[in-house]
Amino acid sequence: MEQVYTFGGDARHDEPRARDKTIVGGKGANLAEMASIGLPVPPGFTITTEECIRYLAEGANFSDQLRADVAAALGHIERTVGKRFGDAADPLLVSVRSGARVSMPGMMDTVLNLGLNDDTVQGLAAVSGDDRFAWDSYRRFIQMYSDVVLGIDHHLFEDALEIAKEDNGFYADVDLAAEHWQALVGEYKAIVARELGRPFPQDVTEQLWGAIAAVFDSWDSDRAKVYRRLNDIPGDWGTAVNVQAMVFGNMGETSATGVAFTRDPATGERAYYGEWLVNAQGEDVVAGIRTPQYLTRGARERAGAKPLSMEEAMPQAYAELARVFDLLELHYKDMQDIEFTVERGKLFMLQTRSGKRTAKAALKMAVDMVDEGLIDEATAIRRVDPMALDQLLHPTLDPKAPRDVLGKGLPASPGAASGAIVLDADTAERLAARGDAVILVRVETSPEDIHGMHAARGILTARGGMTSHAAVVARGMGRPCVSGASGLSIDMAARTLKIGNRALKEGDVITLDGATGDIMAGEVPTIEPELVGDFAVLMGWADRHRRMKVRTNAETPADCRMARQFGAEGIGLCRTEHMFFDAKRISAVRQMILAEDEAGRRAALTKLLPEQRADFREIFEVMAGLPVTIRLLDPPLHEFLPHGEAEFAELSEAIGVGVDTLKRRAEELHEFNPMLGHRGCRLGITFPEIYEMQARAIFEAACEVAQASGEAVVPEVMIPLVATRKELQILKALVDRVAAQVFAEQGRTLDYLVGTMIELPRAALMAGEIAEEATFFSFGTNDLTQTTLGVSRDDAARFLNPYVEQGIYPRDPFVSLDIEGVGQLVTLAAERGRATRPEIKLGICGEHGGDPASIAFCEATGLDYVSASPYRVPIARLAAAQAAL
Ligand code: ADP
Ligand code: MG
Ligand code: MG
Repeated sequence: MEQVYTFGGDARHDEPRARDKTIVGGKGANLAEMASIGLPVPPGFTITTEECIRYLAEGANFSDQLRADVAAALGHIERTVGKRFGDAADPLLVSVRSGARVSMPGMMDTVLNLGLNDDTVQGLAAVSGDDRFAWDSYRRFIQMYSDVVLGIDHHLFEDALEIAKEDNGFYADVDLAAEHWQALVGEYKAIVARELGRPFPQDVTEQLWGAIAAVFDSWDSDRAKVYRRLNDIPGDWGTAVNVQAMVFGNMGETSATGVAFTRDPATGERAYYGEWLVNAQGEDVVAGIRTPQYLTRGARERAGAKPLSMEEAMPQAYAELARVFDLLELHYKDMQDIEFTVERGKLFMLQTRSGKRTAKAALKMAVDMVDEGLIDEATAIRRVDPMALDQLLHPTLDPKAPRDVLGKGLPASPGAASGAIVLDADTAERLAARGDAVILVRVETSPEDIHGMHAARGILTARGGMTSHAAVVARGMGRPCVSGASGLSIDMAARTLKIGNRALKEGDVITLDGATGDIMAGEVPTIEPELVGDFAVLMGWADRHRRMKVRTNAETPADCRMARQFGAEGIGLCRTEHMFFDAKRISAVRQMILAEDEAGRRAALTKLLPEQRADFREIFEVMAGLPVTIRLLDPPLHEFLPHGEAEFAELSEAIGVGVDTLKRRAEELHEFNPMLGHRGCRLGITFPEIYEMQARAIFEAACEVAQASGEAVVPEVMIPLVATRKELQILKALVDRVAAQVFAEQGRTLDYLVGTMIELPRAALMAGEIAEEATFFSFGTNDLTQTTLGVSRDDAARFLNPYVEQGIYPRDPFVSLDIEGVGQLVTLAAERGRATRPEIKLGICGEHGGDPASIAFCEATGLDYVSASPYRVPIARLAAAQAAL
C-alpha cells in the first residue's frame, strides 16, 4: 500500500486512497479533489494517517521506504514548479501542514516557507526581485519552525519584533523594510542558538523531516487529546502530513491571503462571506494582528468600513474566486470553508472543507439547497446535526427587555448567554464544574483555551474577526460568541477589565448577544423560541422519513404542553413521585409512609387521591388523543423521609403524631442501599394500597376527561423495577381490578394497557415470560445501565471521566447507551418479548431516548418509540429520521 500520494501538476488523482479522508486526512483529500477538478492548487504530496500510527507505535522511526517515497514526491513538486528544494539560486519552498480526518484544533500548526536558510534566502531575494519579501519570509519561517517544531516559546520572537519596531519608531509590521527584517533574522537565530544550544537548522532536508516528525508527534499532544475527548474522536485515527509548494501572499500590493465561506456561516444566507488581507501570509487573517478587510463590496458598505474589499481592490482575482466558489458548491453540494492566496494577481486554492455553521445556518442552507435542487430531502435531513438544534430550542434575549449595553463586537456566533466574567480557561473550567455560569473573556483565544470555551456559556474576545479561532470554535460548539470587541481591554495582573469606559472585574455578570454583538451589564431576561420557518420545514421532512414515534418524559402540564409544541406524540414516562414532593402534599405523603399499619396508610392516601387525580386530569387534557405512560410510584420511601428536627416537628404538628414515634419509624425505614432497596414494584407488593390509589386516580381522571372532551387518552400503566413475572402478575391483577371498579362506578370503559419497565438484567433475561403479562415494555436504560454496569449514576462523576479519557468506555454510558453491553440486554429482551407477544409495544424512556447514537440503536433494534425530555423531542425526531434513512 502506498503511503505517499502526490497532488497537483500531472499527479494522478484517480487512486481512491488519495482522496479518502481516512487515509490522507481531510485537508489532503480535498487538495487532491480540488486539483482533480482543475482548480489552481499548488502541487504537493500527502503522507498517510496510517504512516502516522505506525510512526507513533514504532517509536518515532521513519522507514527507508518512506524516505525514498518522500524524495520521489518532492521530485514531483520540483518538476511541476521548476525549482529545486535547497537550490541556493532559485529555491523551492514548501509548507508542512497537518491534516486529520476531521479538522482538529490542537494538531500541529502549519509551518510556512520551509526550505529557507542563509543561502536560499539570497536566491529568493534575487529571483523575486524583492529583498523585503525574502527576509520577511525567512523571519516568519524561523519563528514558526522554532515555535512548532523546536518548541521555543514564540513570545521571545514576538518581543524581539516589538523591540525592533519601537527602536525604529514603527507601528505596524508593514512599516519594516528589508534591512529591518534581515537584522531581525539575525536576532531570531541568536535566540534559537541560545535556547536550543545549537544553531537553527540550515540543512533543508533536516528541516523537512523535523517538521514531518512534529506533525506526527502532535497527534499525541495534550491539546489534541483534550479535543478528541470533547469531540469523541478515536485516538487511532492519526494525522496525515501535507507538504505543498509555497505560494506567496506577501509579495507586495498585488498579493493577498484570505479565508472565505461560500455562504454566510452564521445566518446561512446565500452570500459569499470572507476576510482577506493584502500583502500578508498564512494565518495573518485569523491571528488578529491586523484587522482583516471585507471580501465583497456589499459587506464592506454595510459595515461602513473604509479599506477596499477584495471585489474592489482585485477585481480579476475576485472574479476567479467567485467562479471557484460556485464550482466548489456544485462539486461538494455543500457550503465550503476556503483558504486562498493571491500571488502577484494569481489565485491559488489552499484548502476547502465543508464549513462549520450555526444551527440556524445549517437549517437554512439545508432547506435552501433542496429548493435550489442541489440536494434531496434525505441529504438535507442528514446535513443537520440533531444536537445542534439544541441551540435553537433554548431561550433568546427578550427584545423588549432593557439592555445596559457596555460595548459591541462582531456577532461571531449567535445565541444569548449570561454569566460571570472569567479571564482564563482553567478558571472557567473550574467554576463551571461547580455549576457556575461563566463567560470566558480573552484578548483572543487559541487552541489552549478549548476546555475553557467548552465550559463557558459564552465567549468574548477583544481581537479577531468572524473567522478567528474564537469565532470558528464557538460556532462549532454552539456557544454564543462576540469577537473583536475593540473597546475591551483586560488587565490580567489585576484581573480587571474595561469595556468602553466602564470598569469591571472578574466575577461580574455580563450578557452577550451573539446575534448582534452587544455586550451588556448584568443578566438580561429571555423568551422562548418560535419553531417556525426553516425549522418547521426540515422537521416536517424528518417526520415523513422516520419510522419510530417520539414521545416525551414529562410530568407537569407545562412540560407536556411544551413537548407537544415540540412535536411529542405522547408521554413515554410520567413519573408520579415528582407529584408527591409538592410542598402542599409532602406531609400527607410522609404520614402515609410513616404510618404504622395499612389503616394509617389508607387514611393518608385518601387525602392524596383527589390531588393525584387532578394531576392526571390536567395532563390527560393536554395530551388528549395521545398515549400517556404513567409509572406507578418508584423511588425508595427513604427519599421522602423528613430531615432534621424542624421537619419532624412540622410533620408532628400537621398529622398529630409524636416526634419520637415519627423518628423511630423513620429509623426503621432507613436503608443502606436504597436504590437496590424498598422501591419500585416492591412498594406495590408490600403496600398495595399505594398502587391502588394511583390506579384509581388514573382511571377516574381518564373517565372524567373522556366524559368532558370526548377525546380520550390511552393510559398505559407502567410497573417499575419488575424482575419476575409473578410481580407483574400480582400488580397487573391489582390494576385491572381497580380499573373494573372505576369503570363500573362511572358507567363507562376505556382502553388502557398495563406493562412494565425493563430496567433490571433479570427482567431482560426473563422478558419472554414477563411478556405474558405485559402488553408493553419500556426500557428504563438509566437503571438498566446502573444495574448492568454495577455503577451508581449519582456517584459515578468521580471515576467516569477518567474512564472515558482512558477509553474504557467510549462515552459516558449514562449519556450514550453502552450499545455493546447494555444494548445486548435490550436486543435480547425485545426478541424474547416479541417471541411471546408479537404485537408488544416497545419503547425507551431513559435519558438515552434523546441521544442520537442511542436513537440509531433503537431504530436498528426495531423499537416502536423513543421518549425524551421536552427540549430533546425535536432532536429525537431528527435523529430518528436520520436513523431510518
Ligand atoms: P489550518 O489547518 O490551521 O487551517 P493550514 O495547513 O491550512 O492550517 O495552514 C494555514 C494557512 O497557511 C493557510 O490558510 C494558508 O494561508 C497558509 N498556507 C499553507 N500552505 C501554504 C502554501 N503552500 N502556500 C501559501 N500559504 C500556505
Ligand atoms: Mg491553524
Ligand atoms: Mg487551513
